[in-house]
Amino acid sequence: MSLRSIDKPAVCGGVPVFAPPLPFNKPTLPSFDSVRDEIEEVMRSGQLTNGLNVRALEEQAAEIFGRPAVAVASCTAGLMLTAKALGLTGEVIVPSFTFFATTHALIWNGIKPRFADISVDTWNLDPAAVSAALTPAVSAILAVDVFGNPGEKEALELIAKENSLTLVTDAAHALGAESAGRPVGSFGDAEVFSLSPTKTVAAGEGGLVSVADEAVGEMIRQGRDYGNSGDYDCRFVGLNARMPEINAILARKGMDVLPDIVARRGRIQAAYRENLAELPGLAWQVVKKGNTSSSKDISVLVDEYRFGMSRDALARALEAEGIPTRTYFSPPAHEQTAYKGLFSAGDLTVTDRVSSAILNLPVFSHMGIDQVDKVCAAVKRIVAHRSSTGG
Ligand SMILES: *Cc1c(COP(=O)(O)O)cnc(C)c1O
Repeated sequence: MSLRSIDKPAVCGGVPVFAPPLPFNKPTLPSFDSVRDEIEEVMRSGQLTNGLNVRALEEQAAEIFGRPAVAVASCTAGLMLTAKALGLTGEVIVPSFTFFATTHALIWNGIKPRFADISVDTWNLDPAAVSAALTPAVSAILAVDVFGNPGEKEALELIAKENSLTLVTDAAHALGAESAGRPVGSFGDAEVFSLSPTKTVAAGEGGLVSVADEAVGEMIRQGRDYGNSGDYDCRFVGLNARMPEINAILARKGMDVLPDIVARRGRIQAAYRENLAELPGLAWQVVKKGNTSSSKDISVLVDEYRFGMSRDALARALEAEGIPTRTYFSPPAHEQTAYKGLFSAGDLTVTDRVSSAILNLPVFSHMGIDQVDKVCAAVKRIVAHRSSTGG
């Protein structure tokens, strides 16, 4: 089948570009042969959770971050335990342009999210908006490295220092990313990562917390074990947030190839941008000079008027081509039904604008550049026929 842009889009009765459909996302896993012996050893030993593989994963992560790391059952649990261990109270400044787990973790701790707007170019927390959101009730900033793009870490560290605030990052997307030559995982009081199947390193489920202070790490270690310090007398209320050993084996294998994963995803991101550069009305996330994104997601803002069709019409036409897309984060956190009536949102003009225009394109670490080219060819033929594609 030819992929010339003059071909009829599938939404107008043409042949879909991908049949069967392309996955939106798919974990890149080690071969079973490469983990067989280690899994067998876990089963033989009967040490199924929180054992030698978890320890080894924590050491491997600590080596990358240059400071202690604690493995947990998920990023959500890691954020909940981090907020507890760092003693966050009152209000915490957080973006609304994030996955709802960020804010859920605060609310589980009885903390009120205080939403601040994002920058229009990076889609990360805007330091000026953070300063404007400060109140005496604010105890911390919880930033997010959206789609793996490192936020304004140094600016936020300065605001935190000047106002005696704790600084935490939800770095669920950013394992393998770098800011100003330093790995994400080395900033603020804690940075929390996810190892769930859609992230850059997939362990099945899991999370990592990098901490500046080993005492905080020790409290998270106890917290993942119900808060038990070892004498069966809990000094605080924890969770069961232990990481299973088999998941730690997968995580270690993923961490072994992390630089390669980030490089591959970077090439995929560059190919999308180059290929679609000729189309008007598409805006990409800006990665600040000196930073490296993990390219966990590859996303674009669709300007309905300049592009000539709406984000949603483009998504529908791509779906017909066998190209699934997503609209993360829409609705943004402050508009989640679960939070209705709980918080006043403040000025989130940029969040609302980005959220209503965002389109996340398919990406996985072993995606071929030929597949990227086919997705882009589909976008172009949809655009060429936009007057008849319901745009
Ligand atoms: C995936 C994700 C989480 C939650 O991670 P889990 O490991 O699934 O708990 C938190 N924050 C953000 C920004 C995420 O994308």
